[in-house]
Amino acid sequence: MKIDYIIVGLGLAGLAFAEELILANKTFIVFEDNSQNSSLVAGGVYNPVILKRFSPVWNVKEQLEVALPFYKALERKLEIKIDEKFVIKKAFKSIEDQNNWFSAFDKPTVAPYLDAVLDTEIYPGVIANHLLGNVKEAGRIDTLKLVKSYREYLQKNNWIRFQKFNHKEINFDNNIIQYQGLEVGKIVFAEGFGVKNNPYFNHLPMEEAKGELITIHAPNLKIDFLLKSTLFVLPLGNETYKVGATFNHTDKTSNPSEEGKKELIEKLKKVIKVPYKIIEQTAGIRPTVKDRRPLIGKHPKHKNLAILNGLGTRGVMIAPTVAKQLFYHLENDLDLDKETDINRFS
Ligand SMILES: Cc1cc2nc3c(=O)[nH]c(=O)nc-3n(C[C@H](O)[C@H](O)[C@H](O)COP(=O)(O)OP(=O)(O)OC[C@H]3O[C@@H](n4cnc5c(N)ncnc54)[C@H](O)[C@@H]3O)c2cc1C
Repeated sequence: MKIDYIIVGLGLAGLAFAEELILANKTFIVFEDNSQNSSLVAGGVYNPVILKRFSPVWNVKEQLEVALPFYKALERKLEIKIDEKFVIKKAFKSIEDQNNWFSAFDKPTVAPYLDAVLDTEIYPGVIANHLLGNVKEAGRIDTLKLVKSYREYLQKNNWIRFQKFNHKEINFDNNIIQYQGLEVGKIVFAEGFGVKNNPYFNHLPMEEAKGELITIHAPNLKIDFLLKSTLFVLPLGNETYKVGATFNHTDKTSNPSEEGKKELIEKLKKVIKVPYKIIEQTAGIRPTVKDRRPLIGKHPKHKNLAILNGLGTRGVMIAPTVAKQLFYHLENDLDLDKETDINRFS
């Protein structure tokens, strides 16, 4: 069988690239082996502001302009609800922290997302020693629901194989790739941290970070916004909340750990003061890059092999933009952004 593309991996990156191929009427097959689960466990939050420093997320305006319509279109296509808008309330740590919020109004790239009027309300169950600052234009994509529905959609069309992609079985025959009986134009690797097993791209400098989350049932906590303090508390409905996340640079497994749970419980003591029960714990590895920018581009020697990776902590916002950039780079030879092009490491 002849196809235009293979995509390896169906997380947020693979999904966004598959959408580009479908729009352009390209033929493709996805390989997915469930070895990584970052997109399945992600909080899914999109937040235009880095709240530690009150600075804007890189290219935030451009990313949101692509991402929000992208997820809206998927809601229609898959007939699911995945985008929930909410306000993020930042609990200030100190008066200095609060003053820094107001200094941020001098930055034209951040100011539109911050509310100048601070929230003085007391929320039952929430520990807040200072006031709260509202971040606008934020929300959450239910990435678990999205990826599951998208895989089902691909399966119905025979566009996905739930198998491990074996890099050793790639055969190069001039401009055509042979893989397990398929004659393929190009392969796009969207493997997340799975890239560590990819002999063509595993030289790129990943600085992956394992993240763990717990879901709690807390009937006395009545908040309908995302509370951002030393960790985030994200309302899911039915009195349940997702709480996270940890950053661990040594453990390379996707298994939930006792250590991760303990850390979250300890931190949560400083954020809420109501009883709760842990009903779930999840973990995954964020595919973060040393310089915190995505990894996009062609293999230096095999130009029909490409990578779409390095989405780091913000896959929801960035995946649709970089998938589009890679698609036009591969199909129309458009230049890549120098900050995301893997050539920066050559
Ligand atoms: C705890 C946690 C919380 C997070 N919270 C947020 C958040 O709130 N907002 C946000 O924007 N981002 C968040 N992220 C980051 C986000 O999850 C990632 O940026 C994004 O999911 C990465 O997507 P990806 O498709 O590149 O990788 P992945 O989701 O890891 O997908 C890669 C896929 O490739 C498959 N694969 C790998 N190798 C092979 C192979 N050889 N053959 C076949 N299949 C293969 C894997 O099974 C996997 O399905 C969070 C991450 C974690 C871990």
